[in-house]
Amino acid sequence: MNRTKQTRSLRCLMFPLLIAAGTAVNAQAQSIERMRELLQEIQQEVDSLEKEQARTLRLRERLQHPVESVEYVDDVIAVDTLPSGSDAVMIVLFNDNTWKYLRNRDYVKDSEVYTRCWDTTKLFPYRDSVALSDLPRSVDIQLVDSLRCYHYPYKANIRSKFGMRRRRKHQGVDLPLKTGDPVYATFNGKVRISFPSSKTGGYGNLIIIRHDNGLETFYGHLSERIVHAGEWVEAGQIIGYGGSTGRSTGPHLHFETRYCGQSFDPERLIDFQSGNLRRETFLLKRSYLDIHSSASQDFEDEEDEAKERKRAEEEKKALANAQYYRIKSGDTLGAIAIRYGTTVTRLCQLNGISRNTTLRIGRSLRVK
Ligand SMILES: [Zn+2]
Repeated sequence: MNRTKQTRSLRCLMFPLLIAAGTAVNAQAQSIERMRELLQEIQQEVDSLEKEQARTLRLRERLQHPVESVEYVDDVIAVDTLPSGSDAVMIVLFNDNTWKYLRNRDYVKDSEVYTRCWDTTKLFPYRDSVALSDLPRSVDIQLVDSLRCYHYPYKANIRSKFGMRRRRKHQGVDLPLKTGDPVYATFNGKVRISFPSSKTGGYGNLIIIRHDNGLETFYGHLSERIVHAGEWVEAGQIIGYGGSTGRSTGPHLHFETRYCGQSFDPERLIDFQSGNLRRETFLLKRSYLDIHSSASQDFEDEEDEAKERKRAEEEKKALANAQYYRIKSGDTLGAIAIRYGTTVTRLCQLNGISRNTTLRIGRSLRVK
């Protein structure tokens, strides 16, 4: 064989090898790049989880300080207002030498809270435009701050709670009262609905207030309404008097809290017995909200709970009957399985091990 031919055949061999090597190097570079991306993604995930955790901790801290209802004494009147440095906020001086910040209503007027789905003719204006699935999984709601006060709507032991009641949804709480007892605005806000019994179905005389914090509160079965739609109200202002109008047996206040038209349990916000607001900031989860049209959600929750309880019970029973075996020299999973009338798979499951796990002499193995 001459030399030229030999070189040529060597070249023929080398060429595909070089290509293969090049491809391999390329693939390796790509996979390193992909790994780097993955690491970055994981780091971002960890960062956001840490942030979430810090936020939850901060919220928990605030939970420990319930907010007391504001008090209004009849003979205290505002005597002057002072500028605060911000046009949106005024300082109001009272004749008892106290003062407080007050939001300038001219600025709140432009807030989206009072323009989006604002309708003084329909009880449920969100119904057609905001679906439950459009809402975020959770929203932070700043219920009160130094500008946004709170007052209980009425202080009493709840007669009927929020939730299912004889297969019908009860979208609020019922607070027994005496006809003529004053009912108060819960937060600052603007009256959206002030309707007589004839226009509200079962609610009787009804007032709905939308608040700066984005929530709406409903006050039903009133004997008298003393505010009208479009009127700005302060927390603690009397908006009407308790009664038994509409579908009601005995005088009581039917009180609802809603976000974008969806009701949630008012007891999450207010301790009606003490009259205190449970927290300044409320983490409203989508799972707290109801759907007007469907009651299935509650039943599913109950089913899940029942399943979970059953599973826990079975686990407890199994643990009570558990049997253990101490591993000796020469034991194999197969042999132990045969001796106890079980399978290797089952042994692995019970002990959280794999078929290839080395059996350590003296270690306890659960066999039943
Ligand atoms: Zn009710």
